[in-house]
Amino acid sequence: MLFKEVIHAIHPYLMKDADVPEFMRNFIQMICNIPEEEWYTKRDPSSKESYTDASLRKFYTSGPSKKLAKKMLSRLTKDNFIESIHEPNREDVVLDGLANAIKPFTDGVTKENVGAELFELLKRSLEEIVDPTLENTRREQEARNKSNLLKGKYGSGLLDDCNSTCSMPGCSHHLQKLADDGRSNPDYEILVINEKKSPSYQNICAVCHDCFEKYILKHTAKERKELESVKKLQMDARDARSTISEIDIDEGIKNVIESLANLKPNTMTSLNYEPTFIANKIDENANFLLAETVKNYVTKFFFSINKVMQNLSRQNQYPDELVRAEIKTICNRLEMKGLSQIEIYENISRHLNRITKQNIIYCNIVVCYFIQSCEVFHDITQ
Ligand SMILES: [Zn+2]
Repeated sequence: MLFKEVIHAIHPYLMKDADVPEFMRNFIQMICNIPEEEWYTKRDPSSKESYTDASLRKFYTSGPSKKLAKKMLSRLTKDNFIESIHEPNREDVVLDGLANAIKPFTDGVTKENVGAELFELLKRSLEEIVDPTLENTRREQEARNKSNLLKGKYGSGLLDDCNSTCSMPGCSHHLQKLADDGRSNPDYEILVINEKKSPSYQNICAVCHDCFEKYILKHTAKERKELESVKKLQMDARDARSTISEIDIDEGIKNVIESLANLKPNTMTSLNYEPTFIANKIDENANFLLAETVKNYVTKFFFSINKVMQNLSRQNQYPDELVRAEIKTICNRLEMKGLSQIEIYENISRHLNRITKQNIIYCNIVVCYFIQSCEVFHDITQ
């Protein structure tokens, strides 16, 4: 509730030595001219003193009643309020403190205008007590402004984290909208999960517009905790991703092929036997040229490539297992498409060429390596 938040924010700067009932009594007298006996609902308690103190405490913790707020709004004393805030005895440092205290609620407040700004803020907070829909509208607006601000810094990262699907448990709304020209544009809001904490990366996530509105207006502690667990999973996945990308698959392949381009003939060891595996994997009658090419390249380069990969892997520049898995997946996918062996060979080679921008011959040689080491093609004799 805005009223409560503002009152609690200004108390340390305004009559800070006064206890809560005294503070509230003075405060109400500053802002409106309703006599004290009209502040309370007329139920006659045994001790008048404690009754009024209790009511004042209640105003402090949960705001004045709707009835009193309405009455206060009709009898506000703006000039009196501003004058009391800027009374000559009040020190600049206190006015500064007061301005800082209400900065989260109102833009452009300074020690010079803090009286007027605070008055408008309190008036707004009383209006919200009288008409609670105003509070909803304000909260939605504030959340939307915050979302827009956060999008610049975190937007693409958060969309990445949730795979462009609403982060709210149980919702599967896609967070990309297809435009008329066929391009897809991000369509989402950034939600602050725990309002009481700062909107840092750990405390925000991307959601759809519906979930955003619903959560802003109302959510239970259980719903908040669920969203916090989703956020934790998203952050864990991001950590895992960044570990892999430290030695990126593409980067690894690129390192291998670049090293290959630098190989000197006199440093190479050839296989001194026929690469027998090949015969089981390539139909030599149908693909004579391919079989010969692979045999030649494997005989000549298999050892060297293996050594290059081992060295790079030791230096953390080549994720061996990941690359092999990746090549295997690509090959399976092409096989499932019904491509011939020659076509698969060419496709993988061109894929490596696109990644590494190195001469296609080096790429061919590396594909031959992967045929011999079983990532490309399967045993056709089985
Ligand atoms: Zn949603």
